[in-house]
Amino acid sequence: MRYIKLNTNESPFPPSEKAQKYASQAASLLQLYPDPQCAELTKKIAQNLGVEYENVLVTNGSDEILNFAFMAFCDKEHPCVFPNITYGFYSVFAEVNSIPYEEIPLRDDFTINVEDYIGINKNIFIANPNAPTGIALALSEIERIVKSNPDNIVVIDEAYVDFGNESAVSLVNKYDNLLVTQTFSKSRSMAGARLGFGVGCRELIADLNTIKYSTNPYNINKMTMAAGIGAMEDEEYTKRNCREIIKTREYTAAELEKMGFTLTKSTTNFLFAKHNKISGSEIYQKLREEGILVRHFDKKEICDYNRITIGTLEDMQILIDTLKKITEGK
Ligand code: PMP
Repeated sequence: MRYIKLNTNESPFPPSEKAQKYASQAASLLQLYPDPQCAELTKKIAQNLGVEYENVLVTNGSDEILNFAFMAFCDKEHPCVFPNITYGFYSVFAEVNSIPYEEIPLRDDFTINVEDYIGINKNIFIANPNAPTGIALALSEIERIVKSNPDNIVVIDEAYVDFGNESAVSLVNKYDNLLVTQTFSKSRSMAGARLGFGVGCRELIADLNTIKYSTNPYNINKMTMAAGIGAMEDEEYTKRNCREIIKTREYTAAELEKMGFTLTKSTTNFLFAKHNKISGSEIYQKLREEGILVRHFDKKEICDYNRITIGTLEDMQILIDTLKKITEGK
């Protein structure tokens, strides 16, 4: 069976043609090691974000920079906190690095209570927008958290920032305790290339570079580096795709609500939805039987929900029609 894959928040669109062209040109030079400084790509990212070269570190997916941040800034004396419902890898990275962590419960409506993080005096990891809830904090709220914890690092994971949110990159030169991470995996259609980056003050980036050079100096392969440069030169393509995904998200959300689904206010490339009569696991299973993969979590607070990636409009129409069949008469 050919599945419609709406379970890992990939983009339904191919990478930009420039990214594809540069990557295939780089293929003919694979006998050489890649540039360990990743200079040209770092320069392009810095340019596009309006920061300096020294503010940016490029990594193998944003997972790598997140792991680097746990390694560089946290230990037994410097524990960390993050919401109890968030990106699953935070607890994995904390555990693998033997870092004590606390999970702060979300409110019942899945929003983050900012007051919980004010002056908490521990390193903080927040996905903004959060995953899998899709809900974002305003930039002013992020700033309050960063400002109130000057002796700790605040990492803002912006994997989904491009789907209708304000980035905290504008704050990195104002606060030396802020690290913002982003990825090429979602809005830039390059999950398979493994490319992400962090933006922070020079000193933070220098610390993270120390980790990089002592673990994997050639962390970005030549083809990925070239594709990343192509994507950075083609930001208009990314923006167009984001607009399309946002439009499809809003249409799909409205259709799901008509069928008795409750949704969070997602500003990402996915929806987080529960039905008022049918359990989350049953929806997941029935969709799977019909060839549509979505993501279900067993965790009790969110087991009524499914996370549904926004695909093409055609994919989402098939999802909507299938859900109509599943929910009919319930
Ligand atoms: N942060 C969040 C919140 C994510 O959902 C993901 C991907 N699933 C990542 C980071 C990591 O993405 P990547 O390593 O592909 O950049």
